[in-house]
Formats: sequence, structure tokens, C-alpha cells
Amino acid sequence: MQNITIYCASSPAVPQKYFDAAAAATRILVEAGYGILYGGGATGLMGCVADTVLACRGHIKGIIPGFMIDVEWEHKGVKDMVHVSTMHARKELLIKDTSAVLALPGGNGTLEELYEVLSLKKLGRFPHPIVLLNTDGYYDPLVTMAEKMAAENFMRREHLDLWRVIEKPEDLIQALADQQPWGPESIGFAAVMDKDAKE
Ligand code: AMP
Repeated sequence: MQNITIYCASSPAVPQKYFDAAAAATRILVEAGYGILYGGGATGLMGCVADTVLACRGHIKGIIPGFMIDVEWEHKGVKDMVHVSTMHARKELLIKDTSAVLALPGGNGTLEELYEVLSLKKLGRFPHPIVLLNTDGYYDPLVTMAEKMAAENFMRREHLDLWRVIEKPEDLIQALADQQPWGPESIGFAAVMDKDAKE
């Protein structure tokens, strides 16, 4: 079974449209035969993803640090739950045995996780597809930021292809299929050169 890692919001108070899209994307992935790896939480879009996988009788594995278990943040229905000691260990395991990453709308934690995997991919250390579900334009400012990074040479234009941004869950499977592997050789164009400098 191929796994896909999902990063998303823990907040339970976000608008319903984000829950609807999270559930739809999760259902599509389970129906396509993916196992889900996620952060193990019970609330917000994290809880929605887990509940949807369980309702669809799919497979889900949570990876959660001990201090979050102490405050009872883990999803009690997810039986395959790995306990780790640090947030770093959790992030490492979340992308260890995976074939792709999907970021749903989220807050600081989601952005941190997304940007770590984007940075690893840019350096040729994560070869798999990364998809951003831009529900109702939630991530438009991030897309604009990436364009600005490329326009002002904070990264190469090629690096806009590190991820695929989709507007609807129905575009997910195609977006995963479309992305070419990004192998270790990509370190060769990871850096911006002096000669790329603009006026
Ligand atoms: P955020 O996007 O800020 O909601 O963060 C999602 C990520 O933050 C998760 O992967 C966790 O690392 C962490 N997190 C923050 N709050 C919670 C919570 N109540 N339950 C589980 N994980 C949480």
C-alpha cells in the first residue's frame, strides 16, 4: 500500500468549507488505495481526516509526540499510533515511508511542516509529489509569496514546480500523477547563482 502524508489544521473552529474539502480529499485518497499518515490529532481538520478514513475503512497511521498524549490530543480511534519524543522525530517519521505530501489549509504547524518538506525537496532530499489544496483561495497569499521569491531571485523559477497547487479535491489524483520525481541530482540547480542577479 502506498502512503500519503497529510498536513492540516488542528483548529476545530475553522469554517465548514474547509472540513468539507478535507473530508472529500481524504475520501478520494482512500478510494484510490492510499494509506494515510498524519500527526495523530483528534481535532480540527486533523480529526476530520482521521474520522473520514475510519468511516471509509481505510488505513491511517498517526505519529504524535508524548507531550501531546499527556494533554490527550491524540485521536482515540486511530489504532496505529506511533509515539515519539519530539516534534522533530514526528516530522521525520511523517515523511519517511510516504509517497507524497498533501497540505490542506492549516496554521503555523501546517506551514512549518509544509515548508520543511519543500526545503528538503529543493535540496534533492525528498523526491515525491507535494500538493497544496487551495480551498476557496486560502493559500493564495502563499502562492503569491512563492511567485515573489522566484521573481526576485530568492529561488529559481524551476522551484515553483516543487509543489502543485489545486483548487478542488477532485484534481488531487491527477496532480499526484503529473509530478516528476525530484531526485538527488536536483541539488545541482538548488542554488541561485551570481549570474542570475537582476538589476
Ligand atoms: P496548525 O496548522 O497550527 O493547527 O498545526 C497543526 C500541527 O500542529 C500538527 O501537526 C501538530 O504538530 C500541531 N498541533 C497543534 N495543535 C494540535 C492539537 N490540538 N492536536 C494535535 N496536534 C496539534
